[in-house]
Amino acid sequence: MLAAPGAISDLEYDFQWVCKVLDDDLIPQNGDRFDFGLGVMSEEGPMHGKALGITGTGVIAAVAVAKESDLWKKGKLTTEDGRMHLQDGVFITSNDISEAMKAIGAMRAGHFTLLEHAGIKFGDLKTMYMCGASGTYVDAVKGRDVGLLPPTCDNIFQYGNTSLALSTDLLMNPELLDELQETANSIRANHIMFAGDKIFEQIYVQELAYCEEGMSMTKYNENNVAAGLQALPKPTGRPKVTRVSMRDIADLGERGLYILHEIGTNLVGKMEGCTGCKKCEHECPENALTVSKDRTITVKTKNCLGTACYRCQYVCPEKVMQFDSLRLS
Ligand code: SF4
Ligand code: SF4
Repeated sequence: MLAAPGAISDLEYDFQWVCKVLDDDLIPQNGDRFDFGLGVMSEEGPMHGKALGITGTGVIAAVAVAKESDLWKKGKLTTEDGRMHLQDGVFITSNDISEAMKAIGAMRAGHFTLLEHAGIKFGDLKTMYMCGASGTYVDAVKGRDVGLLPPTCDNIFQYGNTSLALSTDLLMNPELLDELQETANSIRANHIMFAGDKIFEQIYVQELAYCEEGMSMTKYNENNVAAGLQALPKPTGRPKVTRVSMRDIADLGERGLYILHEIGTNLVGKMEGCTGCKKCEHECPENALTVSKDRTITVKTKNCLGTACYRCQYVCPEKVMQFDSLRLS
């Protein structure tokens, strides 16, 4: 789920693993404590009973915990039921970890590709800047440990929601727009298409072997050197992390922004040729979509992932579900 009240956003080690759950002000607070090796919850925290789901940053933390606690072997969680149980019925499956590791592997393949094309060594990369949800809630040290950040960066800045901060600055000082345009005009970019890049392909195949087949990092690096690429250095020491922002939306309350818990808008529509099979409803990962008896499709906009998902559309056996033809009710 997105960063919202009730989201598990991190797992922090304090003699045992503690779920960090976002409260109504979007501040991570202690939830329940766990021993994942033993598969037990050891103590209820103040946020017990309030977790509704997990953010992407929480999944990154789960990947780090699975690797650090030796719970991940050859593409599977080694727990009794193959799941990592968090609190309030929220759990992570082997498939979730596998998908997250593939995404992280793609990030790492991206680091390699950009560095190799630019002729830069990992050792030269010392500072990283993170923004968005990663720049707010991801534990940057865990992020570096799992490969989300290059292993050599020892200085990490987390700037939070920079687009919201920029919008606020522009509202308060519209002249900044000219400055912004000048900056945009001065940027000269070289585009690298990862999908067709040989370096990306070489590294990503290795990433798959590493996360799914248990290939060692030694072999990973031997293959890199054989392919004329640099080896991946091991993370050293603990990076210095500077968190500029503590929460996604900096100012809440009377003079800031409010979080709307119930947006209240729905998208509705009927698809010609729909058989009412409800496959789209069952496929929806956010329980956002329902198909009524008269085959009216209703999507709760507050839960829907929209263009990032469209699973309802892809799964339709009749190929009639067209997300874009739904209309606001
Ligand atoms: S795009 Fe479709 S499947 Fe995805 S969350 Fe929205 S309604 Fe559900
Ligand atoms: S999957 Fe397609 S046919 Fe089935 S209910 Fe949904 S829109 Fe209708």
